[in-house]
Amino acid sequence: MVNENGINPFLDPETAKTHLESYKSPDGLSIEDIMDLRSNGGLTYNDFLILPGYVGFPSSEVTFETKVTKNITLKTPFMSSPMDTVTEAEMAINMALLGGVGVIHNNCSPDEQAEMVLKVKRFENGFITDPVCLTPNHTVADVNRIKAQSGYSGIPITANGKLYSILLGIVTARDIQFHEDHTTPLKDVMTTDLVIAHEGVTLEEANQILRSSKRGKLPIVNARGELVSLLSRSDLLKNLNFPLASKSPHSKQLICAAAIGSRPDDKARLRKLVEAGLDIVVLDSSQGNSIFQIEMINYIRKTYGTSLDIIAGNVVTREQAASLIEAGADALRVGMGSGSICITQEIMAVGRPQGTAVYKVSQFANKFGIPVIADGGIQNIGHIIKALALGASAVMMGGLFAGTTESPGEYFYREGQRLKKYRGMGSIDAMERVGCKRTQPDNNAAARYFSERDVVKVAQGVAGAVVDKGSIRKFVPYLLTGLQHGLQDIGVKNLDQLREEVDSGKVRFELRTAAAQIEGNVHGLYSYEKRLF
Ligand code: GDP
Ligand code: 5GP
Repeated sequence: MVNENGINPFLDPETAKTHLESYKSPDGLSIEDIMDLRSNGGLTYNDFLILPGYVGFPSSEVTFETKVTKNITLKTPFMSSPMDTVTEAEMAINMALLGGVGVIHNNCSPDEQAEMVLKVKRFENGFITDPVCLTPNHTVADVNRIKAQSGYSGIPITANGKLYSILLGIVTARDIQFHEDHTTPLKDVMTTDLVIAHEGVTLEEANQILRSSKRGKLPIVNARGELVSLLSRSDLLKNLNFPLASKSPHSKQLICAAAIGSRPDDKARLRKLVEAGLDIVVLDSSQGNSIFQIEMINYIRKTYGTSLDIIAGNVVTREQAASLIEAGADALRVGMGSGSICITQEIMAVGRPQGTAVYKVSQFANKFGIPVIADGGIQNIGHIIKALALGASAVMMGGLFAGTTESPGEYFYREGQRLKKYRGMGSIDAMERVGCKRTQPDNNAAARYFSERDVVKVAQGVAGAVVDKGSIRKFVPYLLTGLQHGLQDIGVKNLDQLREEVDSGKVRFELRTAAAQIEGNVHGLYSYEKRLF
């Protein structure tokens, strides 16, 4: 048996095979072995590694279809945290476009939160669903002001100057280009000979009308002649495709999730969110196994049936999970004190290392078909792969998505770095709503971490800053491509296969000593630059 290089790799291949088979089990350890609490204690993502398998396919064949609740399947396993420096409408829209789902925070008034949900549900790729409108009695000066503030030059004119009001005309740059009298009412300059399209028109059809009409804007109206959205010629070429987008199968609208607490007035808040079209409600509590949350699950089931999916939590033990599954949760959020901004474990002495928490809860919940969302502590792609290997169906990230273009807040500079604020919802900063532009809610962030009778606030989180990560339109594809390579190295093509092969013991693990962790990171360099994508 000499190969083409003249080398005999095995003197006797049969003997090599017999030797391999003589080992009682494959190399490395099974998941049960590394998760043995008595010998290894609670583990975090950094405490172990997954051993490589066999690569028999290109990484592009790896897919990530996953259940995020019992009834909702996504094409990517990503969720963004309900935090006021992470998820508002802009983040939720883009998360859904990219195949995940964003959970809109509740550190604002119920009306503001419902408005954000509505924005996500109304969003249609390519269509401007909240165009700035004016009335016929506004003046040329108003158009100039809008142009100067936001750069828009095509302004639809409706009866009351708002969306969902009768469309009367449009004022474009050309209508007012040489108009010197800025007090002229728009009714005297607007174009009324309109090319329009009707609600329900597809993006393709609408683009075709825009092209052939040679106009700059295409207003979309409903059967009553009210303006519902606007299409802009300058967007024609920019309309990207989002093949992974998370959409409701019936309405084709983007899937939207939002957080509420478990207090009596959260019921009224939820009503507004549901009216705005909410798909998933996240019961946001750091210790979810409570009478309050169980009563809230019962109330939601009684009031909304199964039309609204409930993500309950947070939990980190089997017993907590059992209690919420019994109450009727459609998914569980797992993590206590593992978040990057968290000080719960230090202050409250409760919590659990996240690797063990995800494994223990998933092992139990998956028996009931209840998906587990690994929430907090995800610092890199490797952590996502480990969370999924431990049984999570999706991961929720706060810190990783903070500092992106789509996260709320303005960028600022410190020591030459472009930064954005990122704070725990249990930080004094968030509970006292420092710098909040939104209205004081009845039940704000303080409610998640305290009872209203607490006179002294005890922080469970910190406020800080993270560096600019650019747009999630680039960052999420980077995460996804990294995940594809990781699963390829393990030798699995999708999350079902990953779970099966972890359970059967085919996918193998190994603990990492402290020295192994140092070895696995950059070391021995005088300096280096870490560019990720
Ligand atoms: P242009 O003359 O075709 O460049 O169009 P505009 O100057 O009116 O708009 C410029 C960009 O702003 C386009 O990409 C629009 O999609 C976007 N845009 C976002 N919101 C609005 C809005 O409320 N009104 C208008 N007219 N454009 C908007
Ligand atoms: P990260 O992705 O930054 O590691 O963690 C985000 C998660 O931390 C959130 O989804 C939420 O579960 C949790 N979290 C957010 N704010 C706080 C806080 O102030 N204290 C604690 N203990 N957890 C928080």
